[in-house]
Order: sequence, then C-alpha cells, then structure tokens
Amino acid sequence: MANERVICSGCSLLCDDIIIKSDGLYIDEVIGACLKGKERFDQATAKNRILNPLIKKDGELKKVTFDEALEKTLTIIKNSSKPLLYGFSTVNCEAQLKGIELASLINGFIDSNSIICQGKVLNTAKETGLSLTTIAEGINKADLLILWGANAAESIPRLLNKVLFSRGKFRMTGREIKTLIIIDPVKTASFGVMGVRDIALQIETAKDIDLIRVLKEYCCKADGIPDAGVAGIDKDDLKRVLLHLTGTENGIIFIGQGLLKSQNGDNVIKELLELVQLINVKQEKGRISVIMLGGHYNMLGFDHVALSNYGKNHSLQFSNHQLVETPDTIITKIEKDDFDCSIIVGTDPISHFPTQLSKKLMSKPLILIDNKQTATSYVADVIIPSSITGIENGGMVYRIDHIPLNLKKIINPPNNVFSDEEIIKKIIESLE
Ligand code: SF4
Repeated sequence: MANERVICSGCSLLCDDIIIKSDGLYIDEVIGACLKGKERFDQATAKNRILNPLIKKDGELKKVTFDEALEKTLTIIKNSSKPLLYGFSTVNCEAQLKGIELASLINGFIDSNSIICQGKVLNTAKETGLSLTTIAEGINKADLLILWGANAAESIPRLLNKVLFSRGKFRMTGREIKTLIIIDPVKTASFGVMGVRDIALQIETAKDIDLIRVLKEYCCKADGIPDAGVAGIDKDDLKRVLLHLTGTENGIIFIGQGLLKSQNGDNVIKELLELVQLINVKQEKGRISVIMLGGHYNMLGFDHVALSNYGKNHSLQFSNHQLVETPDTIITKIEKDDFDCSIIVGTDPISHFPTQLSKKLMSKPLILIDNKQTATSYVADVIIPSSITGIENGGMVYRIDHIPLNLKKIINPPNNVFSDEEIIKKIIESLE
C-alpha cells in the first residue's frame, strides 16, 4: 500500500499537504484533511454516488447505457435553439474549456456558479482594480486578517490553521502578532478562534456599506469618528479597526458570501475595493489585499478559462458560433424564460436557486452531468454520471488565491464512468 501526497478538492483552498494510503483501487486512509476534505475522498464510495446513466421514462429515472443517455442528450440539444449551460465550478479547467466549446457549437449561453459568488468581485474590480495576494504570503507575512461576511471555520476549514495559526518564514513570531477582525451580523463558528487582541464586530444586518463608508471617510483623518459609531459598532472599535487597517504591514481581507449577498448588491463590493485602494495609497509601510472565499474548488478556474480564451469571465452568449454581447446572466435568462433546455454540470441549481427559478428550470428538458444525487438529479431528464475530479481523474484547477494547481488521478472510477471533459467531448464529437 503506497503513501502518496495529493491535493484535496474538498474546497477552494485545495490543500496540497494531504497524505493518502491507497492500493490503486480504493483509498484506505486519508491523513491531514479536515472533515470536509475527508468527506470529499469518501465520496468515491458514498451511497449517494451516481454510477449509471439514467433517463426519465414515464416520470421515473431508469438505468440505461451510456449510448442511450448520449442519444437522448443529442435529441434534446438538436431540438433546442436556446440551450443554457450552467455549473462548471466543480470540474477541472479542461472540462470548463470543453463546456464553452460546446456552448459555442450549439449557440448556447454558458455561465458558472461564480456569477452569483466571487465573479461579482472580479466584475467590480474591472472598475476599481484589485489588490491580490497568495495564501503563502498570508502564512509567511500577514499581520492582519479580516473575515468579512466569511465563516471560514466552516466553509474553508483549514484556512485559519494555515494563515492565522502558522509561524511565518519571515517573522519571529506567529499567532501572537496576527490580529483577527471578524465582521459579521451572525456570531458564526469563526468567532470561536478569537483571542484577546482580536476584534469581533457583530455588525447590524445589511449595514456593511455604512461601515465601509465611514472607514473610507475617516481612514485619512486623525479624528472625527462619529460618537454614535455606525452599524451597531461603537466608536472605540471603529478607532481600533482604523488603526489596524492603516497600520498593517500585510493585511488580508477575506470576502465571504455574507458580503456578496448583501442587500446593497454590487455597490458594497465596489466601496470595499475603493476602501482598499484608498488605504494602499495612504499606506507607507505595507498594504492590504483581498482574497475571495469562493466555496467550490474550481470556481475561479471558469473565470480564468473564459477570460483567457474569450475575453470575458462569465455569461457567454454564442450566436452563429461567435461570442456576442449580452447583458444577461444565468439568473436573468431563467427569469425571462429565455431558454428551452439546460445542461447542468456538477452543480445543484434546484437547491441553490430561489423556487421560482428552480420551477422554470424544471419546466424544460434538463441534462445533468454529475456524480452524486442532488435535488437537481431528481428532476433531470437525462443524467450522465461523471468521475470525481481530484480522485478519479486529474486536471488543472485554480486555488482561491489564483494559483493554478494540477490535480492527480488517484484511483480508477467505478463502472468506468467518464470524466466531465470526456463526456462533453463525446457530446461535441457526436454533434459535429
Ligand atoms: S480545507 Fe478544503 S481543501 Fe483543505 S482539507 Fe479541508 S476541504 Fe480539503
């Protein structure tokens, strides 16, 4: 039984220090992963695994051969003039590229989960600029970590182990010189790691933009912070936050879902990125950077693949096999009923989307490429099972700090199921 060092694809941190013991057929032991990562490796033999192609017949999903499922997929696509493709954040970059090629071939619209997550930050950054950093910088040099609307302890479980509790190469000390600030309306599990010098700010719901505006206004002034505080945060805490923001040598703001889903929409991100720029201009001895905490392990990959190949990181509409301008996103396309079938890859929109959107998706033929049962698999018309990336097939992925990594294949997939890339390639070849 060989020991092997592999990357965990349980979340977008893509920890590269996991040891597995495997005989090449099964993974017998996983060492170093968090519970979420362990579950990811266990998915290979999980009960909710989809191992056979399925087609809905008389309202029920029935097992079929791969060729039958492919045939049904082709029939749906050929009868469609406005196909939607969505998901692609839990597949490798090679499959993402094939997905976009398929969208181009069938004159479809393609979007990834990023559009409702960290893609919002990237879009806003086109106007404001973006100061990025890496996890290695966080480990080795960070002295200020801000979790903003981010419950890292549960969503990216080993993030704080790495960046907060580590002892950096370039510093004599570790946790004791690192200040953690958490800004969240909810007292999440992440508050549990706070030490005496850290700052917990339980902000009033949807008031993040008010706090950012005050920080923008007063980060260049020595005094004048409002006595009443702002958004439920008192004057003293505001002062402490400002001192840290303007005095840090290497500060990182982790932007979480809580901030992305703020009632103030994209403005809150715009104002936050402007605050970062403002401080960095004023800062003489250091800088502040931003890391977006996308959950799915290769959500960033789609942005990179789409941007580098097509000049646009999301919401790609093809007509006559050419990319055309569109103001639409996956959400507006479904809202407007501007589609006649959907191809969903590695995601579960029926659970994630609001009910009215899920109902619209369910009302048209739905093809699913995935490896586990979800609410979407129960309503799909065709399901083609895929192998698990990072376990049963390899490929390139992007970590949360935009570092590309190569996942290895560890074991063979059961039932010889194909990878996402192979499945999409077979669909393309059959259509050409
Ligand atoms: S933090 Fe994420 S990548 Fe690291 S072991 Fe846990 S699930 Fe895997």
